[in-house]
This record gives sequence, structure tokens and C-alpha cells, in this order.
Amino acid sequence: MNTQTQNIASKLTELHHWINGGSVPPVSGQFIETVSPMTGVVSLKVAAGNEVDVDAAAQAAKTAAEAWRRFNPAERGRLMLALAARMRARKEELAEMERADTGKPIAGALAEIEGSAQYFEFYGSLVYLPKGDILDVAPDQHVYTKREPYGVIGIITPWNLPLNQAARAIAPALTAGNVVVAKPSEITSRTTIELARMASEVGFPSGVINIVLGTGKDVGEAIVRHPAVRKVAFTGSVAVGRAIGHIAADRVIPLTLELGGKSANIVFEDADLDFAATETVKGFTLNAGQVCSAGTRVIVQRSVYETFNAKLAKALEAVVPGDTLGPIITPAQFQRVQGYFKVAQDDGARCLAGGEVADVKGQENGFYIKPTLYTDVSNDMRIAQEEIFGPVGVVIPFDTEEDAIRIANDSEYGLIGTVWSQNIGRALRVADRIDAGQIFVNIWNTMSVQTPFGGHKNSGYGREKGIEAIHHYSHTKTVTVKY
Ligand code: NAD
Repeated sequence: MNTQTQNIASKLTELHHWINGGSVPPVSGQFIETVSPMTGVVSLKVAAGNEVDVDAAAQAAKTAAEAWRRFNPAERGRLMLALAARMRARKEELAEMERADTGKPIAGALAEIEGSAQYFEFYGSLVYLPKGDILDVAPDQHVYTKREPYGVIGIITPWNLPLNQAARAIAPALTAGNVVVAKPSEITSRTTIELARMASEVGFPSGVINIVLGTGKDVGEAIVRHPAVRKVAFTGSVAVGRAIGHIAADRVIPLTLELGGKSANIVFEDADLDFAATETVKGFTLNAGQVCSAGTRVIVQRSVYETFNAKLAKALEAVVPGDTLGPIITPAQFQRVQGYFKVAQDDGARCLAGGEVADVKGQENGFYIKPTLYTDVSNDMRIAQEEIFGPVGVVIPFDTEEDAIRIANDSEYGLIGTVWSQNIGRALRVADRIDAGQIFVNIWNTMSVQTPFGGHKNSGYGREKGIEAIHHYSHTKTVTVKY
């Protein structure tokens, strides 16, 4: 931990909501304490919001909505680009804040902040895009469609890539002419508040970006239930996504659900095995495996199974707890990941690496896990079916292309899939048949802001990122004019 991170992590900060362009304390007067996963020491007191705070934010948003919708698009774009520039100028500081809350290595945090700035650049340059059509219906009728904002969008995000995921939803929502009431995870609220503060500093009108802090039950649910909120973008677990889905169904409002994954990473015998091994390891250890798109199910052709396992074990040596590998986010999640070590053992998987907690010098109370690899895994084992959210890969053998596809699709999830093969015909055939929202062939890289991102099956619905996301933050109006 460098001095700057240490200063942030050790200075007990009190975080308030950001409502109507300013910092607002919680009406309850209550705060939630969060601990640094690197030290186990309380480092943040987060406003414990409730439905009264949510109502204040939603009313502020509703008041700001009409003017923001009519805002000159060029000016809206300029504000978004100015916000991106401000984020980039403060990149190191924001990355240190993220590291203080999550413990993630600084390189990863910097990449996420860069991605966050890119969301505002990308969507800030697309303000003219939400457009309609002219339809040739009849000789005496002029019919046109236009995209319109929903108004107030509720945005609920998890703790694993805090600012990045807030930016991923807030930027396209604003471009489409909406205003937002957002709730970051109570564990990692710091940078989302900072985003709202920076937005006010660069000139965003008050009420366009509102952030309410607190728990999912007290604040998240109140956002989804609030009558002013006309659409919700949720990123998080399947269980909560499902619960929100019920409320949204009752209210008849649209939802984007970005949920979990147990993604298949298929390695054929003709792949560049060395490259595939290092990238595969990245795929399940990045952010200590706490990534929805982690490629945790490594499905390897039997003819190269042992060779590839040895390469994975070698590549794992570069993943060092406390250095290139951050901690697990909370004590509860730390316990949960360890629980899977017992499950793996009971189910008869072979532990090739890790499978235990790691001691990190100077951070003895941190929540560190050694990068872990299980082989001799069958796809019906719990470690192959359940999202562990730790740096844990499981390696499953297959014989034929058909087998690989069957195993890949034998999952309740369908977020991403990766195929490693130098036979491009085969790679494309397999890519077509994996039931997932995005596929990578001979590469694993989920950071682009342009590529639509979202799941099949229990991984959710709707899409974030890319031009497509703008359509999820706007709806169509058709106007028919008789002349
Ligand atoms: P979580 O579902 O527990 O929490 C996510 C957010 O929802 C938090 O802000 C939380 O406070 C809020 N929340 C909790 N209960 C709520 C309720 N009843 N009503 C409304 N809001 C509520 O998820 P998490 O543990 O923070 O994050 C990990 C999960 O997120 C994993 O399953 C991961 O795969 C998923 N995830 C998905 C994506 C994606 O893009 N598909 C990205 C990152 C994380």
C-alpha cells in the first residue's frame, strides 16, 4: 500500500449523499461503517439513506428533467467531455480512492478510471445520435418517429468496479436526455460521490446527477419503487436482480439487468497454449476474480489437458497476493470463498494451486486468497456451476467440439465465452453456438466502452455499453401528421 492509499484508507471519512448539486447528510443521521479489505480497519462512514432521502433525490431529478431534456445537445456533450477531462486529470487520485475501498492493485484501478472517463467521452460525443425515422405511410400523411428520454433513471451498482460501472450507466442515460438517481454499493461509495461532485464543478445543472447512499434494502428498493423513476439499470447479483424485477413488473417500468456469470473459456488442442494460459489466468484472477465476466470455467481438450494445466499453474506464479492480486472485498465474502475450498475437496476436485488464504506482509488482517486452480472438475460440481467471486479457476476436460459446446452451455449463466483455437472456422462455429452475450476468440478483453455488454439466461437482459445502450435509455414516439 503506498502512502497516498494509506492516507485515504486510514483517514476516517464521512460520506454524504449528493442531491440537487450539493452534499446532503442523511435524514436518519445514521452511518454505515465499512472496513478496508487490506487492513480490516474501519475507513469510511457512509450515509445510511432511506426512502426520505430517495424522495428528495427523485424530486430534485424530476425538477431538473425537463430542462435537461431540452438542453442544447452540443452543450450537453461539452459538459460530458469536460467531466471526462476532469476525471482524467484526477485519475491517480480517483484510482487511489478506489484502491482504498476495494484493495485492488493500482494498475487495475487506473485502467478502470480510464474506462470511466472514456464512457463520458464516448457518450458525450454521441449526443446527436438518439434519432428517429420518417415513415412513408400514406400520400397525405407525414409520419415520423423520435427517441425520447424516460425522464428519471434509477441506477444501482455493485462494489467490484465502482466508478466504472456507475459511469457505464450514467453516461448513456445522460446522453439520451435523462437525469439520474444512482446508488453505489454501500461498501464502495466514495468515487461515485466524487463523480457527482466533479459533474457539479464542471457545470452540470443541479439535480441532473443525484447519488443516494445506503443499503440495497433501504435505498435501492426505494429507488425502484419511487413513482418518479421511469426506468432502472441494475448491476449486481441474480438474487437482487430478480427481486427488483418483481417490483419493476408491478410498476410496469423497464429494467436493464447486468447480473452474474460463470463464463466458459474453451481451449482447443490447436490453440497457442502459452498465450491462452496467461490470458486464461488473467480471465479468472483479474480483480481477484471479482468480475462478472470472469472466465472461471476453463474447458480444455483432453489431448492437451495436463500440458495446459501445467502452463496455467506456471502462469499463476505471476499472480501474487498483495501485489498483483488484491483482496476479497468483505469478511463475509472472504468466508464464502473459503467455503468453496471445502466444497471442492468434498466433491473430489484436485487442487493444483492455492485453495487457502494468503498471508501478506504488512496486511496480516487483509482478506487475501491465494490464486486457486482446481483440475479434474466435472461440470456438475458446485465449483463449476456457482459464481464464487474469488480468484478461483476450475478446469474441465472435453473430447470433441460438440462436448465443449454442451459443457459451455450447461450453466444457468450466459455472460461471456472465450474460444482459443487457431482454426478460425471452428472458433467461429463455436462462438455462434455458445449461449452468451459476448464471445472472445483468441483474446480476453472486456474493457472496451464500445462493445455492447450484457447477458443471456440468468446473466440478465438489456445491454450496457456501445451505441446500443443509448436505445435502452430512450423509447420511441411516433407522430402522424395529416396534410
Ligand atoms: P448485490 O446484488 O448484492 O448488490 C448490487 C447493488 O444492489 C448494491 O448497490 C446493493 O446495495 C444493491 N441492492 C442489494 N439489495 C437490494 C435490493 N433489495 N433492492 C435494490 N438494491 C439492492 O451484488 P454485489 O455483491 O454488490 O456484486 C456482485 C454481483 O454483481 C455478482 O453477482 C456479479 O457477477 C455482479 N456483477 C455483474 C456485472 C455485469 O455487468 N453483468 C458487473 C459487475 C458485477
